[in-house]
Amino acid sequence: MSETNNVNNFVAKIVEEDLASGKIDKVITRFPPEPNGYLHVGHAKSICLNFGLAEKFNGECNLRFDDTNPEKESQEYIDAIKEDVTWLGFKWAGDIRFSSDYFDTLYEYAIALIKSGNAYVCSLKPEESEEYKGDFNRPGKNSPYRDRSVEENLDLFARMKAGEFKDGEHALRAKIDMASGNMNLRDPIMYRIRHVEHHQTGNKWCIYPIYDFTHGQSDALEGITHSVCTLEFEDHRPLYDWYINNLPVPAKPQQYEFGRLSLNYTVTSKRKLKQLVDEDVVSGWDDPRMPTISGMRRRGFTPASIRNFCEMIGVSRSDGVVDIAMLEHALRSDLNSNAPRAMAVINPLKVVITNMADDHYEDITVESLPDSLIEETGASLLRTVPFTKEIFIDQEDFKEEYSKKFKKKFCPGKRIRLRHGYVIEATDFIKNDAGEIVQVNATQVTTVLGEDPADDVKPKGVVHWVSASHGVEAELRVYGRLLNHESPDRGGEDFMTHINPDSLSVSTAIVEPSLAQAAPETVFQFEREGYYVADRCDHTADKPVFNLTIGLREDKSLSQ
Ligand code: ATP
Ligand code: MG
Repeated sequence: MSETNNVNNFVAKIVEEDLASGKIDKVITRFPPEPNGYLHVGHAKSICLNFGLAEKFNGECNLRFDDTNPEKESQEYIDAIKEDVTWLGFKWAGDIRFSSDYFDTLYEYAIALIKSGNAYVCSLKPEESEEYKGDFNRPGKNSPYRDRSVEENLDLFARMKAGEFKDGEHALRAKIDMASGNMNLRDPIMYRIRHVEHHQTGNKWCIYPIYDFTHGQSDALEGITHSVCTLEFEDHRPLYDWYINNLPVPAKPQQYEFGRLSLNYTVTSKRKLKQLVDEDVVSGWDDPRMPTISGMRRRGFTPASIRNFCEMIGVSRSDGVVDIAMLEHALRSDLNSNAPRAMAVINPLKVVITNMADDHYEDITVESLPDSLIEETGASLLRTVPFTKEIFIDQEDFKEEYSKKFKKKFCPGKRIRLRHGYVIEATDFIKNDAGEIVQVNATQVTTVLGEDPADDVKPKGVVHWVSASHGVEAELRVYGRLLNHESPDRGGEDFMTHINPDSLSVSTAIVEPSLAQAAPETVFQFEREGYYVADRCDHTADKPVFNLTIGLREDKSLSQ
């Protein structure tokens, strides 16, 4: 179906071996976002990997919301995440799931660990806990509450659940090893008290399990075979395994880690992206400058371009920074092959064809799809372009005087071919008081589409144009990079100091009438100008709005 079917990476190899050896019958993966923000391009890598494995090996991938921090989570984020995964073209198995679906079971698991002497209620204050924990060079110290009896622990834990204590007064901890070289094993917290409402469970709970106590057990309960996460969880794996080995879980999932995606000129942290939204640096999570999936969608990225990009960068066991040029390349090559073409004039200069009747009107039928796509698929997409006595061309395409450097060479006495149209020859021009050329007069030289002039004086180039009377004004939102530093969040400074103040400029263009009728989210190549998308939210036939998706060539990238 998609290119991700060819997913070929070290995790795929492991899955392949596990299927071949009979260790598993079917691969089951999951994508486990916390609903505390919108998904970004880094998540796309994880989505492509997890759903891609399921697709390749005829398995399943669950969408599970890891919702153990109710203060930071919301229904808005849940809805946005579902929409993003669907838009990327993936289907989760069955209903969406929530870690909170398992709160009752997790509570029972906690009791089981207390009963087996493997967990205790600790009443150290948070700052004392820090002190007891030690650090990389210094082993921790046992909490004075570590040897509480099972009965006392059961009683205190039940009362924590019943709401008898304030936030932070007690915590349930696993009894592992305060001297472990792995900090995660120094009696990690399993449950803390938080008197907050939860978006799924309402006010049922005032104690919430910590991520580490939730994730592996949720994997086990869903029968996840390969729990794939990013490298920062490598040090958590011994704890993941410890819980799985010490609890009566129905399965033994295994965790594998891969390198997270970082892109230059980009921040990929929900916290930082939220800051950009909260401080009104951008118009919202889906602002076309945001590296969120919804922002990229609004910018004109296609699902295929994002999936192909994830395929290109591969999956490895180490972190690295990917050049944003690779993402742009994936986008440009998809649009180059697939985007319909149309004409828009960004800096209009009026051309009057003086030998044409004032009321001349002609519908020229043209093909919108690129030749390569037509050759490959046989598809066709015809549109009509009105041709009239007065048209607009771009100011750049006419010069007062002939010069060898000027490629199009459209100037008085010279000819040009109108794209999809006729050959015209400039006769003279009119300037305004400021000395700017405001009108070019020309004559129509050919009267049969596609033909060359009878006198064999060839036009010097082809220019795009739009009928002056039938063209439509459109708002163009031209985006550049949001951050003007290559490593905005890896240097010493706050990434907010690297905001590019000129990342958005708004202008007006005259576009073909067919573009006003475009469905929102359709990306076009405005011939000779760049790729533009009809804005998903604001574009209408009456008020067309297009976002710059990306320039035509590498040297006209998102950054410029
Ligand atoms: P952030 O740091 O942006 O808040 P997160 O890791 O906290 O991201 P989660 O919602 O917990 O966000 O992530 C869901 C899944 O996506 C996890 O399995 C996580 O490992 C993966 N993921 C998050 N960021 C990246 C990234 N940059 N590259 C690859 N995978 C990622
Ligand atoms: Mg997280």
